Amino acid sequence: MEEEIQVDENFPLFYRKKSSASVKTTSKKPPPSETAAAPPKVLDKELNPNPTPAHITFSDLGLAEWAVNTCKELGMKRPTPVQQHCIPKILAGQDVMGLAQTGSGKTAAFALPILHRLAEDPFGVFALVVTPTRELAYQLAEQFRALGSGLGLRCSVIVGGMDIINQSQSLMQRPHVVIATPGRIKVLIEENPDIPAVFSNTKFLVLDEADRVLGVNFEAELRVIFQCLPKNRQTLLFSATMTSNLQTLLELSANKAYFYAAYEGFKTVESLKQQYVFIPKHVKDVYLLHILNKMEEMNVRSAIIFVSTCRSCELLSLLLEQLEMEAAALHSFKSQSLRLSALHKFKSGQVPVLLATDVANRGLDIPTVDLVINYDIPRYPEDYVHRVGRTARAGRGGLAVSFVTQNDVDLVQEIEAVIGKQLDKFEYKEKEVLEENLTKVYKARRVATMKMMDDGFDEKAKARKEQKLKALAEKGLLKKKSKKRKREKHAKESQD
Ligand code: AMP
Repeated sequence: MEEEIQVDENFPLFYRKKSSASVKTTSKKPPPSETAAAPPKVLDKELNPNPTPAHITFSDLGLAEWAVNTCKELGMKRPTPVQQHCIPKILAGQDVMGLAQTGSGKTAAFALPILHRLAEDPFGVFALVVTPTRELAYQLAEQFRALGSGLGLRCSVIVGGMDIINQSQSLMQRPHVVIATPGRIKVLIEENPDIPAVFSNTKFLVLDEADRVLGVNFEAELRVIFQCLPKNRQTLLFSATMTSNLQTLLELSANKAYFYAAYEGFKTVESLKQQYVFIPKHVKDVYLLHILNKMEEMNVRSAIIFVSTCRSCELLSLLLEQLEMEAAALHSFKSQSLRLSALHKFKSGQVPVLLATDVANRGLDIPTVDLVINYDIPRYPEDYVHRVGRTARAGRGGLAVSFVTQNDVDLVQEIEAVIGKQLDKFEYKEKEVLEENLTKVYKARRVATMKMMDDGFDEKAKARKEQKLKALAEKGLLKKKSKKRKREKHAKESQD
């Protein structure tokens, strides 16, 4: 389903109320004085799931010749639907909210028109892109650099966990494009009085993975960011999933705004095979090893294994090391340089397996990922959709295998209801799996557990948690948590 909606008013991001009933309150109609002059909403629905006419080219979208040539060089033959619809609107100066499946080419949909405009009048900082995770910030920068390679593009990544003095200096040199996570850019804007002026002429603000940026208490950060951006900037919001926050924005957004949606709820792509293994918890590692040993036979080039906590991620990483399986681990107890190095090793093919918490569940675009394993079933169906979206991208095939224990049955049923299909059974011979691996895995697990104790992982984790709570208490942010806040905390934890 594709929807094109012309709506009425600028994206007033902070008109929404903060109460837990925000969806209801924010969808409240504005006072009559505001509505009187507002044009009616125009709603065009196109029901063709892939309405991009084959003959449309990047040049037809109004992009400059250099940009069209860069697309060609990068192997982008034709615009994807989200690009076809959004690029002309952005070039025409409209605010855009783009909602499309992960892997559908959203990044180029906003990067290309921004770079086109930048080339006409190059200065810094021309665009600020805000994204929820550090890894996504680096990935976005890579794509901007590739698409802007003909322009001598200067692009800075401003994220937590990296040297703040260098970041401050880099901003003062006014790069063309700044890609930032909300927390770090806020600190820089607040602590260095010279930084706000750097953004005083910025033409574009992009919120990438906008549902997440808007949905997990980044409001304070966004307020600070918005204050130093000019009002006449273009605002572009891109997301793979529709949430109440985005729905609210849509209901309140501007008459010059354009809304593009190729979205039918939480959907997984047809080219993805989704399977489950129903097993007792204590043999998960045995099955994991079985599947990893079969990667070659299954034509799997690389695999991401998702776990629910940093602790299990670390433990599994030590376990695989004991079993002499090469794997990199990505979780938020690691320093940012270790996180980046893990991702780099995996992306460059040095290691075929990435162990990760939900910090890696969104947006990461690694074409060799043929397999996603849900070692732990995620608590929320949307996390499942994001996780399995790391494979079967851009029309390719892929496999997702979920380890289901008896405690997870409800969660899996919830996932199946949301994605609108049932997971198939992963075929295996139980006797073979257990005989092959059981003793070896149990032994390795004992060693890995000891090693983790020796490394003092739990003490370090406890100290870190206490430090975080103290910092929150000092800022007066330690409140009694509602169910919604718990969910938001989960989302925030999985990304910082
Ligand atoms: P994204 O949804 O932005 O993460 O993009 C997913 C992948 O599709 C990236 O590897 C892009 O380089 C690639 N891509 C984006 N646009 C096109 C296009 N028009 N043709 C082919 N590949 C594309």
